[in-house]
Amino acid sequence: MTRLGTMTRQPGSSAQETSPGAGPGCSFRNVRERLQDSGLRPTRQRMALGWLLFGKGDRHVTAEALYEEARGAKTLLSLATVYNTLRQFSEAGLLREIAVYGSRIWYDTNTGPHFHFYVEDRDQLLDVPDDLMAVLKMPTAPNGMEIIGADVIVRVKAAPQA
Ligand SMILES: [Zn+2]
Repeated sequence: MTRLGTMTRQPGSSAQETSPGAGPGCSFRNVRERLQDSGLRPTRQRMALGWLLFGKGDRHVTAEALYEEARGAKTLLSLATVYNTLRQFSEAGLLREIAVYGSRIWYDTNTGPHFHFYVEDRDQLLDVPDDLMAVLKMPTAPNGMEIIGADVIVRVKAAPQA
């Protein structure tokens, strides 16, 4: 369990759980509340994956990567369960689903509006920094319509060495 470092839940020390702002992620109790607030029953499987997803700050994962991570943390779940849970989390608004052409579906724990770089040669999704967001201007919606979301993926790869 060393992977979780200082965020690891200490058995029997419930006082640690309640301290807010203990790091970039959220505590075990926060994960439970987050699930319940979204109308999801905090089952053992959802808690295990929720902890991996939301315990370390914002991140982008694929189902396959999360499955490998769960295995590494000795959490035994099938890949199908990981897929289903990620879909349920997305439908509940806990995750944002991002389809990348030529890659798999990505899941983003940051559900707020932001754009992405997709690094092709590393198969990696990165957030476009806020100061670059201003450069990419949003169009106004057609008459009688409103913008409900925008997915901008800027594809990049390592530049050739000069
Ligand atoms: Zn993102």
